[in-house]
Formats: sequence, structure tokens, C-alpha cells
Amino acid sequence: MNKLLKRLQFVRERMENACISAGRHPNEVSLLAVSKRQPTEKIVALHHLGVVAFGENLLAEALAKQPGLTGLDLQWHYIGAVQSNKTRAIAEHFQWVQSVDRERILRRLAAQRSTSLGPLNICLQVNIDQESQKSGAGPEDILQLARLADDLDNIKLRGLMAIPRMTTDPEEQHHSFRRVRILFEEMQSAGHDIDTLSMGMSSDLEIAISEGSTMVRIGTDLLGKRDT
Ligand SMILES: *Cc1c(COP(=O)(O)O)cnc(C)c1O
Repeated sequence: MNKLLKRLQFVRERMENACISAGRHPNEVSLLAVSKRQPTEKIVALHHLGVVAFGENLLAEALAKQPGLTGLDLQWHYIGAVQSNKTRAIAEHFQWVQSVDRERILRRLAAQRSTSLGPLNICLQVNIDQESQKSGAGPEDILQLARLADDLDNIKLRGLMAIPRMTTDPEEQHHSFRRVRILFEEMQSAGHDIDTLSMGMSSDLEIAISEGSTMVRIGTDLLGKRDT
């Protein structure tokens, strides 16, 4: 059995066990394969194994890879910091942008998304632990951004994405993920029709799922060590 298949089975098993432990149905959580700094051959191989959603965090790298993969029915998620001079290309070449953290970016993506492509799926990125070096909107700005997102054409607000503070303390991890979920629920209470809580990576997917994640973003544990 090949290595990729083994890794995929192991990740799916971890996701499923985490769902069961949390009393959730395994189909409540989807898998985003983070293919940044991974070769296209691995994307093709993973797609053959049934994975459809792939995440990239650098526009130039994604644009270099995508032409070689056009025959495959892939769903591309942009998960990196969004610079305003890159919004047009991102709006044209991705189905999702998970890392929207300010008004200017939201407005540009909406204006530059071609109507013929259908709405661009948006997650607002929240800097839940308010770390200065990290992108993401402050939790206090999320509801206002969500209202704007709902008002703009050509985009569809789907939910929140977060990368909590790096720590090995499970209590602290639970606490961060829980605060993201509470914010997500506040958005729902405010009337936003959202379904995606994107949180959890290779090292913390179990904790994220126990706190309500609906999408985990897995790189290393699925595709192996990245090229540097
Ligand atoms: C790289 C990356 C991941 C995947 O991280 P792994 O630890 O390799 O699973 C998830 N989300 C974002 C936003 C990333 O940049």
C-alpha cells in the first residue's frame, strides 16, 4: 500500500475518531489538503484517492501549479495572507478564500470576481489570540466584516478560519478553538447563513473537532514534509 494512501487513511481515521468522541457525525467535518510547497504529482495522486479540496498560501506558486492540473475536478482554497494587488488573480483562480481579514480585501474580491464564475466562497480569518505577527481580523471586527460580506455581490460568506496560538498545552488549545466557535455562533445568531468553521491542522485536528470545527486543513500529516 502506498505511503500517501496510508497517510490519508490515518488522517481520515483520526478525524472520524475525533467526531465519534465528540458525539458528532463523521460527515460533519471535511478535509482540506494543504498542498503548499508540495509537488503537483502528490496533488494528482491524492485526487485519485478521492480528495478534491486543496489549499495554497502563495499566489505565484498556486498559479504555477494549476495549469498542470486543469483536467482534474479540484476545488482551490486560498489560505495565505491576501495582498490587495493580488485580489484579482485570487478571485479568478480560486473557489474559496479563507483568509479575508479586512474591508478593502473583501470589497476588491467582490468587485473583481467575475459573475460568470459564480460566487466566491469567503471565510473571515480571525486572529483569535490577537498575536501581533499573525494576519486575521480582531474578534471585535468580525461581525462588521460579516455584515459587509453579506451586502456584497459575487461573494458568499461561508464562515470563519482561525490559526490559534502555537502551544502544546491542550487546555489552551481548547480555549482558543472554543472562542472561535463562540464567535461563529454569534455570527449565526446575528442572522448570517454560514456553515464553515475552518480550524485544526496536523497537530491539533482532534481538539479542533472536539470544539466544533467543520473543516480541518492538513498539510504535513497528509502529504509529508514540505520542500523548503
Ligand atoms: C500550512 C498551513 C496549514 C497546514 O499545516 P500542517 O501543520 O502542515 O498540517 C493549515 N492552515 C494554514 C493556513 C496553513 O498555512
